[in-house]
Amino acid sequence: MEALLVIDYTVDFVNGALPVGQPAEAIEARIAELTEEHLKRGDLVVMAVDLHEADDPTHPESKLFPPHNIRGTAGRELFGRLRAVYEQNQDRILWMDKTRYSAFHGTALADELKKRGISRVHLIGVCTDICVLHTAVDAYNLGLKIVVHPSAVASFNSAGHDWALQHFQGSLGAEVRD
Ligand code: ZN
Repeated sequence: MEALLVIDYTVDFVNGALPVGQPAEAIEARIAELTEEHLKRGDLVVMAVDLHEADDPTHPESKLFPPHNIRGTAGRELFGRLRAVYEQNQDRILWMDKTRYSAFHGTALADELKKRGISRVHLIGVCTDICVLHTAVDAYNLGLKIVVHPSAVASFNSAGHDWALQHFQGSLGAEVRD
């Protein structure tokens, strides 16, 4: 069994409060397709979703980004086709709120992987060079094998996107493939 981590593919990050925009819209079908593929294989599928509270000046991101993914708002819903895939398979998908870039920081993700004996994680979602990158770094430090699907990650920063894809491969030993 392996795991698919679907990172921050929400309305706010695609075309809402903190939008990646076109590059994120362009991966909508592939995100849904890979999620269905991993469900079919019987893998653990995790929705790792940024969670912020309204008016939280103590959060480090409040100085860096406009408010986004606020608890209970429509911006925090999964975007597009992924939402339907999630709703149809909710009993088999693990929803994991996260409050930092990495899906591992302050979450039970490492334990959930460990108790299932999972040693390989597949990463998709946004942004390639922020939340996907920080999640990959933590996976690397935990000794997990990493696969990043380039057709299903995106960033508003195309130079950062390209750099991160190199970094996954060259420094984290990840397989970058579709
Ligand atoms: Zn955030």
